[in-house]
Amino acid sequence: MPSKHFSRVNSGNSDLPFSYVPETSDNIDDTLIMKVTVASGKGGTGKSMVAANLAWALSETSPVTLVDCDVEEPNLHLFFPQDPIEREEVTVPVPSIDLDRCTFCGDCAGFCAYGALLVTKDRVLFFPDLCHSCGGCSLICLAGAIKETQRSIGTLTLRHISDRLHIVTGTLQEGDVLATKVIREAKRIAERPGWIVYDASPGTSCPVVETLQGSDLCLLVTESTPFGLHDLELAYSVTSYMGIPSGVVINLSDGRDKETRAFCEEKEIPVFATIPFDRWIAHVQGVGDLISRRDSFWKDRFIALGMACCSRVEEL
Ligand code: SF4
Ligand code: SF4
Repeated sequence: MPSKHFSRVNSGNSDLPFSYVPETSDNIDDTLIMKVTVASGKGGTGKSMVAANLAWALSETSPVTLVDCDVEEPNLHLFFPQDPIEREEVTVPVPSIDLDRCTFCGDCAGFCAYGALLVTKDRVLFFPDLCHSCGGCSLICLAGAIKETQRSIGTLTLRHISDRLHIVTGTLQEGDVLATKVIREAKRIAERPGWIVYDASPGTSCPVVETLQGSDLCLLVTESTPFGLHDLELAYSVTSYMGIPSGVVINLSDGRDKETRAFCEEKEIPVFATIPFDRWIAHVQGVGDLISRRDSFWKDRFIALGMACCSRVEEL
């Protein structure tokens, strides 16, 4: 189980917007958390399936918070029929210009390093997608023409699945670009004792890096195809660069995993689990269910996967 090796909860944080506290088991030090990111270099590998099954199986004995960090296309909640019990907006501060006070001096546009402001002789144009909410323009404006207002960029929802399993879902507003901000907020409100399982977006871009920040371990989900191996290599290069230990789950395996295993051996990445390409598994997923919920064999396999994550972190 989690040991002093793992991250500690910031227990003094009283301003968390969501009020739930998962039940803790007697055998867990409730100030300890184990953070696992489930990632993959490409879509379609079954990453969310692995994250949902892992969380469900571990919640049999331990408190688990599952966090959907694939904020552009969150789908983990589809495995769980419960409606959200709490919902809140994610906002960022942005400038609001009072044209009656503005002298059109252009200082704010000159200051903004992101090109989010453009001043003409009688207008101030603001491009919200470029704004990084640094607050600098309101400080630089000597005419007092800039005030900060809140702009909505997405939502967070909380689902209570059982006494030991909760799901936090981050959803980026359609057309918005600040995915990392929504991910950061989703992770912040998910800080609770027990396991935290983050489901990252596919690929290796900024949202994946944001999700990985602070993780104790990354589970890299791949499939036994040349494309799968190529994207596994990319995903591993990110975790390796960030100094985050990783383990591999080969999903949709047709038994021809030789090259994937050879890569893992060369890089000394343990292969924690292999899930076969199987009609029954595809059917269970197709109806929105979990194999660990349907079959105790798979529940035990996913609990063993969690324990393998713990062992890997402890041995490093
Ligand atoms: S710094 Fe203030 S006064 Fe100058 S252009 Fe910007 S908003 Fe207007
Ligand atoms: S808050 Fe910062 S990033 Fe946004 S417009 Fe002002 S100076 Fe630019």
